[in-house]
Amino acid sequence: MEDQVNITENLSRIRATIASPARLIAVSKTKPVEDLLAAYNAGQRLFGENKALEMRDKHEALPKDIEWHFIGHLQSNKVKYIAPFVALIHSIDSLELLKVVNKEGAKNNRVIPCLLQFHIATEETKFGLDLQEADTLLQSDDYRTMNNVRIVGVMGMATNTPDQAKVRSEFRHLKEIFTDLKERYFADQEDFTEVSMGMSHDYPIALEEGSTLVRVGQSIFGARNYNVPVND
Ligand SMILES: *Cc1c(COP(=O)(O)O)cnc(C)c1O
Repeated sequence: MEDQVNITENLSRIRATIASPARLIAVSKTKPVEDLLAAYNAGQRLFGENKALEMRDKHEALPKDIEWHFIGHLQSNKVKYIAPFVALIHSIDSLELLKVVNKEGAKNNRVIPCLLQFHIATEETKFGLDLQEADTLLQSDDYRTMNNVRIVGVMGMATNTPDQAKVRSEFRHLKEIFTDLKERYFADQEDFTEVSMGMSHDYPIALEEGSTLVRVGQSIFGARNYNVPVND
């Protein structure tokens, strides 16, 4: 099964559908470094992982010009493993988490780019803020005094459903949230530009609705096998 996956071919097929300014993140969670290297050798430089220690280990093993994107639920006590090198944390879903990222950014003498994750799906299981929680976060004194994080956009996951109209309306909602926040909080911040949405099964719709970062895993690397133990 596994050796029938042609990573190079998959990447070039998907890249052909993505126009600037949108960018492709190759979601390599659970996949061995050989697979990431195959994508790297095909020109891919943005990779997405959802476990802090797995990402740290892969960062150590692979070329240093890779941009590492953290896309999963992030536990506060794991931020320290990725703070020195992470390019963008997509999954800020609380002020408490942002505080920890800010603290670890300071320790590493850097400003860590972050996205606010919104709950746009009807599924209960997905993480994320609602607009009111985001307002509370952005208006807090804690946030205003942070010097080592920079919020550059929003992220969300649509409901996992074959109903394409529903998926489209959820992506459209996230884009509206982005525009609203841009107007009310980030009008002067030129790098507040990112709308991270779209996965293997729904990224074409996400691109039509204004995604700037699509996070595609299985369509590049093949199906994941969750029985293989990973370093969390
Ligand atoms: C795993 C994951 C993806 C990629 O999913 P695929 O179905 O493999 O494309 C995208 N975003 C998040 C947050 C993920 O956890």
